[in-house]
Amino acid sequence: NISQRLARIASFVPVGVRVADIGSDHAYLPIYLVQRGIAVQAIAGEVNEGPFLGAERNVRSHGLKESISVRHGNGLAVLTAGEVDAITVSGMGGGTIREILANGIDKLEGVARLILSPQGDGDSLRRWLIEHGWQIVDEDMLEEDDKIYEIVVAERGEMVLADPLALEFGPLLLQRKHPLILARAEYELSKITLALKGLENARGESGQARRDALQQRRKQLEEVQ
Ligand code: SAM
Repeated sequence: NISQRLARIASFVPVGVRVADIGSDHAYLPIYLVQRGIAVQAIAGEVNEGPFLGAERNVRSHGLKESISVRHGNGLAVLTAGEVDAITVSGMGGGTIREILANGIDKLEGVARLILSPQGDGDSLRRWLIEHGWQIVDEDMLEEDDKIYEIVVAERGEMVLADPLALEFGPLLLQRKHPLILARAEYELSKITLALKGLENARGESGQARRDALQQRRKQLEEVQ
């Protein structure tokens, strides 16, 4: 049984694809995808030796050596261009996911769908996607064990997204007023209230500039409700 988080990520993988899971750790996700008949072939990529060996062992013990190739290497370097239709990357910071994609951009040729689950820095990841010919076609958010997880699904296409709040919170999550988005906005607002309190006695231009910036962000966040 895999976590609700990984099952949710799996739900965005189209049936019948060849998929690569980069930073696969125990290879739980590719095993699940192949066992369910969602993926026809899978690649589990791992940069670290321990998790790589663990993934190999796990795939062997599930008798899936024929359909899951476990590979040791950095990011998309384990792939050959055209080898997979979809790529999943989860459980890393948005900046790390962005770098994995950027460093392996030639390997993305032929890839139709990216299913990404950044932990923090979702804004820089979304910006990178949009600037490199991907559009966000779906998004999701879930809470498990008191942690919030987000999922960004991208396919080839044009997308215009200038609003910083949409980059940060996710354009579709905002549009759909996802309940966890509302909670997140509340949380960010409470941080601003605290920060403004801390700046109450900050004098001079820089104090005023910081207050102005916070108040502007507060206005934007209030619109999320
Ligand atoms: N994807 C799994 C999940 O969501 O449960 C595992 C997440 S685990 C926190 C992150 C994994 O990514 C670690 O096993 C780490 O070794 C691997 N990793 C980090 N950077 C990587 C990279 N550049 N290329 C391949 N694997 C990487």
